[in-house]
Amino acid sequence: MADNQNNRGGNKPKRLVVRFNLSWLYILLILGIGYLLMTNGSANPQKVEWADVEAMIMAGDVKEIHFVRNDYKGSVTIRQDRLAKYSDRFGGNIPRQSPHFIFLTSTKFFPEETFGQLNGELPADQRFKVVMENNSRTWTQVLEWLIFPILLILMWVWMFRGIGRNMGGGGGMPGFNPGKAPSKISEKPEHPVTFKDVAGLYGAKEEVKEIVDFLKSPAKYTALGAKIPQGALLVGPPGTGKTLLAKAVAGEAAVPFLSISGSDFVEMFVGVGASRVRDLFQQAKEKAPCIVFIDEIDAVGRARGKNVGFSSNDERENTLNQLLTEMDGFSTNSGVIVLAATNRADILDKALMRAGRFDRQIHVDLPELKEREEIFKVHMRSLKIAENFDLEFIAKHTPGFSGADIANVCNEAALTAARKGKNSVEMQDFLDAVDRIVGGIERKNATIMTPAEKRTTAYHEAGHAVVGWLLPNADPVFKVSLVPRGQALGITWSLPSERKIVSKSVMLDQMCMLYGGRVAEEIINGEPATGALNDLERLTKIAYSMVQYYGMSDKIGQISFYDSTGSRGYDLSKPYSEKTAEMIDQEVRSLVDGMHDRTMDLLRSNMDAFTKVAEILLEKEVIFADDLEAILGPKVKAETDAVKEDNGDGNEQCS
Ligand code: ADP
Ligand code: MG
Ligand code: ZN
Repeated sequence: MADNQNNRGGNKPKRLVVRFNLSWLYILLILGIGYLLMTNGSANPQKVEWADVEAMIMAGDVKEIHFVRNDYKGSVTIRQDRLAKYSDRFGGNIPRQSPHFIFLTSTKFFPEETFGQLNGELPADQRFKVVMENNSRTWTQVLEWLIFPILLILMWVWMFRGIGRNMGGGGGMPGFNPGKAPSKISEKPEHPVTFKDVAGLYGAKEEVKEIVDFLKSPAKYTALGAKIPQGALLVGPPGTGKTLLAKAVAGEAAVPFLSISGSDFVEMFVGVGASRVRDLFQQAKEKAPCIVFIDEIDAVGRARGKNVGFSSNDERENTLNQLLTEMDGFSTNSGVIVLAATNRADILDKALMRAGRFDRQIHVDLPELKEREEIFKVHMRSLKIAENFDLEFIAKHTPGFSGADIANVCNEAALTAARKGKNSVEMQDFLDAVDRIVGGIERKNATIMTPAEKRTTAYHEAGHAVVGWLLPNADPVFKVSLVPRGQALGITWSLPSERKIVSKSVMLDQMCMLYGGRVAEEIINGEPATGALNDLERLTKIAYSMVQYYGMSDKIGQISFYDSTGSRGYDLSKPYSEKTAEMIDQEVRSLVDGMHDRTMDLLRSNMDAFTKVAEILLEKEVIFADDLEAILGPKVKAETDAVKEDNGDGNEQCS
């Protein structure tokens, strides 16, 4: 943005003057219009009924009637000497000049006859003059008709000026260019992002290296007759470094990087999206070889025609069609490579993924342990870290964190250390930052729990912790806290082993662990309470997914009603019969009930340990795995632990 303005430094003052003049013009116009409306307003004749006019005529007060035939509208001028009489009746609101009153008649009104008849009934000196007319478009009325269109056009121009300015404007008419793509172009930044700044993401990096190679030495490929791919889609959860990777591709290949967000295409003005797409590709062709990066492409690329009947968005579809056309319009090997990022590849229109468009999908996944370590290293480069820092430990304690989360942890840790006046960032600062990002900010003194609530919460968390510790397939608990965070009153953190395949026994144990809190409350208070809402929600979801998606129920069988294509969309009919629906519900019920009883048995048969954990928790507020081990013995492990390695889906917590 700043660069843009410098480039045009020369004509900047001139444009300022023009803008100044234009504003004055607007102000004058508006003042004029206002004046017209006001003068008109004060002289407005009073509106009356035909019956009133008849009465005035019969009283001999009317001097003249002006009737517009095709509008069925008349105006009445009262004799000057009788005006005072009406002035009183209408609270002095009668205009001084004629006409004094106006009236509307029905379409069945015959003016000539009626007026003639009335005049015939009056004595000669009290008769009134009749003026008949066919049209009433005097120039003020014409103006009134014009005012609104003019105002509308002015507002339209104004809005576009605003938009134009936001986009840094273009050449030609100052700022008036809504179809101009608001892309951010970074030609050759001083410190281009390179692969060095992108830690981990080995697979994705390998694939994009190929693109860099295409851009650097296209001849190598075209000599053999190969077609250079035109587009690649970066797919992955938010914050995993898709934007970063795209920038790094441009940086490595040393080509310009044109980036635009999908939502920039979706404006309220019809046709703007499509014209922005055209403009973007125009710019790209001029700058080739280059990278065009469309962030959040799902904003425009959602499958067409899926939401018909709800809100069919023609504007978005036009934009998408234009995008498809433009991508086809490239001559192959033009040197423009389009990268797009999304976290929902499944909802994209299939036409986007056709060969010649975004035919490559590059998956950018959440980092695994080793990758997290590297991302930490990248972001700790600029920090002052204390001596005894254990990188592996912190990487282990951040399963499911994205690159952006890790960058956030590093920054948060540095802030905490600075706030405490330390001269280097210590391990504890990092751990606090992790807790904060996982569970929200500690509300140390915000909520005041009554002693009874605190006791219930302690037993609730102890329930989670003990069950998690004793069930072989539940994830090991590493911290239990009674300090309220975010919405939760207490939290049990467990460290999921990073697994890709989850077995049925793991899911069952997870359900039990989630039940731990509720069951503990039932044991202690003899009745359930509202504190287990989040636990129950997750538990129910697991149960339904087991029955409906993973084919883990004997009654339903090995059937999956999962729909990975999303093509079922808003279809209201279910792919199974009523009978199956009932069976699914029954299966889920019996599954959940079974886990409840299993949890109840487990806690009741370990009542001493359970109580002890809860009491220690009440006393210390925060306890760790060591404390649990001291009471419960070493964590019970499954024999098949070797299977479950790598990649969990988040730092588990039960509140
Ligand atoms: P996305 O576009 O996938 O949502 P971004 O590329 O915007 O994510 O990443 C946000 C920030 O997270 C980056 O600016 C960077 O600081 C950090 N980050 C994400 N992934 C990585 C990574 N693999 N290596 C280093 N930093 C990363
Ligand atoms: Mg992004
Ligand atoms: Zn809970």
